[in-house]
Amino acid sequence: MVEKDAMQVSVLASSSSGNTTYIETPNHKVLVDAGMSGKRVQDLMHSIGRDLKDVDSLLVTHEHRDHSSGVGVLARRYGIDVYANQPTWDAMASIIGEVPAEHKHIFEMGSTLSVGDLDIESYGVSHDAAAAQFYQFHHNNRAFAILTDTGYVSDQVRGTIENADAYLVECNHDLEMLRMGKYPWSLKQRILSDTGHLSNEDGASALMSFMGNQTKRVFLGHLSQENNMKELAHLTVASILKEHDYGVGTDFEILDTDPAVADPLFAV
Ligand SMILES: [Zn+2]
Ligand SMILES: [Zn+2]
Repeated sequence: MVEKDAMQVSVLASSSSGNTTYIETPNHKVLVDAGMSGKRVQDLMHSIGRDLKDVDSLLVTHEHRDHSSGVGVLARRYGIDVYANQPTWDAMASIIGEVPAEHKHIFEMGSTLSVGDLDIESYGVSHDAAAAQFYQFHHNNRAFAILTDTGYVSDQVRGTIENADAYLVECNHDLEMLRMGKYPWSLKQRILSDTGHLSNEDGASALMSFMGNQTKRVFLGHLSQENNMKELAHLTVASILKEHDYGVGTDFEILDTDPAVADPLFAV
């Protein structure tokens, strides 16, 4: 039974090749990112019994294609209001094409937006994009925070998303798979840098630094399809947390995400 006034979330798709997450409250429906075709996002929405025509807002984290490639289509075809900071708007203009002026909104880094019964906080991350920012959603004293595409976690981000009820956190790569893999050296360096991505180990450390006694669910996201595997990410994070006496499977659950299959809606 879902509480009547609950915020519900589904990680529709998450990987280094395409990201989109759906959040709804009784009177507002939001997507974070649309890094795939509009049709693909709609198919994912249908798989959880929802439809793009009902979505009110789309928040964009940064211009990289795995987050932005479907943004223009969603704004034009479904009349969805799009929010991003100004540097991100500028950087994604050539990728997303025209967005009607009435659907184009600025969401400044570090500010809070209230839409309907939902409060959304933005926070900047350390990533090689124009001005990448992620979002935490608050409704009815519950919080859901997203943190992927970051090379490290700053004290400021940590403070902002401390002790949320649920997280989507990055586990981009397994260090050994990345080191041994076929990516060119320069790309490996980029991924490993402070403005790159969190590894499985980094994801575990990040979680331990901000999760708390309210935290019930932790989704592992933005896995590289080249340099990671679901089972490996899960096992690595679970074992590190257990080593540190976290109640994995009792106090909270660790959940996987998929590049192509939506996680079922859950009440935060
Ligand atoms: Zn990404
Ligand atoms: Zn990125």
